[in-house]
Amino acid sequence: MKHVLIIGGGFAGLWSAASAARQLAELGKLAQITLINPEPWHSIRVRNYEADLSDTRVDLSSVLEPIGVDLLIGKATFIDTDSRVVTVQTQAPTHESTLNLPYDTLILASGSHLVRPSTPGVAEHTFDVDTYSAALKLQRHIDDLATAPAMPGRFTALVIGSGATGVEIACELPARLRAAAGSSDGSGTPAPVRVILADRGPKIARGLGGGQPVIERACRELGIELLTDFGLASVDSHGVILSDGRRIEASTVVWCTGMQANELTQCVEAKQDSHGRLKVDEFMRVSGIDHLFCAGDVAHALIDGDRPSVMSCQHARPMGRFAGHNAVNELFGLPMQPLSIDWYTNIVDLGPWGAVYTQGWDREVVAEGAQAKATKSVINCERIYPPRQGNREQILAAATLDLQRPPQLKPTATTS
Ligand SMILES: Cc1cc2nc3c(=O)[nH]c(=O)nc-3n(C[C@H](O)[C@H](O)[C@H](O)COP(=O)(O)OP(=O)(O)OC[C@H]3O[C@@H](n4cnc5c(N)ncnc54)[C@H](O)[C@@H]3O)c2cc1C
Repeated sequence: MKHVLIIGGGFAGLWSAASAARQLAELGKLAQITLINPEPWHSIRVRNYEADLSDTRVDLSSVLEPIGVDLLIGKATFIDTDSRVVTVQTQAPTHESTLNLPYDTLILASGSHLVRPSTPGVAEHTFDVDTYSAALKLQRHIDDLATAPAMPGRFTALVIGSGATGVEIACELPARLRAAAGSSDGSGTPAPVRVILADRGPKIARGLGGGQPVIERACRELGIELLTDFGLASVDSHGVILSDGRRIEASTVVWCTGMQANELTQCVEAKQDSHGRLKVDEFMRVSGIDHLFCAGDVAHALIDGDRPSVMSCQHARPMGRFAGHNAVNELFGLPMQPLSIDWYTNIVDLGPWGAVYTQGWDREVVAEGAQAKATKSVINCERIYPPRQGNREQILAAATLDLQRPPQLKPTATTS
């Protein structure tokens, strides 16, 4: 039996698997599909800035088993595209073992990760919300502040990087720190809380286009200090020193800038962009390498024939679906379907203030405040989840190539 191997169980990988299974079922063909992921979870990574992480992981087997996809818990360490073999490190309860898995078609969907600079102390003393475990570590740290010894900067958080992720975590932090401060000494008078959002540019959230003024206003109304033209000299466990020599006392420093494609792309001798993403054609095939598809944050596709895909769940999910469908069709010598997406939206969560919803590549604001927040909640809590009832038909139906339309604005009490 032919073997379709998928590396990664995130948005691109999960939907590649579901789409490949769907297409096999449509064609009435058989092939083995195996998905490799280091953990048994599909992480709803976009929610890692939220305070409550309890529902942000989906059991991969609950989605894969009903559709006949094998799950291998392990970490792919090497891809040999000439002999079509992937090396995988698995962790048995008592020992590690190495497997060499042959494939007929490979879908690489191993995502991206935050890259920290070598600035002294950054690696050791900064938190992040890039992964579930990192978000959990930040959450536990904030909880522990309640019982930590009194010291300058105990309830101060400095968020470095004001892209969407930096803005989202910064807007959550005042309330989260206030909750910790409020329970710190039992006197009923909470200790003061300080949140600073820093960016090396002359404005915060510069990359967020038309949404920028709304974000700046929301941050100010939430009491977040904005620190621009920021330069960092070093970080330690109690704060940071800026490049001009000033010190900020802060127990919590959150790193939010610098994304890079997963390092498995380096095993492939093909064109890459500056983020290390492999260039793919409209069918999600890596140019010049046979039987290799690539989707999500490891892939650079032209999304509407012109604009490069954005490292986003918004693009990873359809890219995954097209990669899965086309991998199966290529296996059986059938025509493939080109990906083309004719819309782009961006909704940035602004914590208790609401959210800002922009449309188009220039990011024109179409909603803000509570109305945008209601739409963001639908995206984060419903739209991007796979069906979770273990129903094969529902899972396969959700893997259709029909593109979802842009998220609808939800009417709210104030707007209806
Ligand atoms: C806090 C935060 C907020 C975000 N907000 C948004 C948003 O509002 N909208 C939006 O569109 N995007 C958002 N994103 C970006 C979005 O999460 C990513 O672009 C998206 O997750 C990419 O999907 P992916 O499947 O390519 O990668 P991932 O979702 O990261 O999945 C990759 C998977 O591959 C696995 N893997 C990695 N290495 C290996 C290996 N060697 N072997 C096997 N498996 C491996 C990983 O464990 C993971 O399960 C946000 C990201 C963060 C961190």
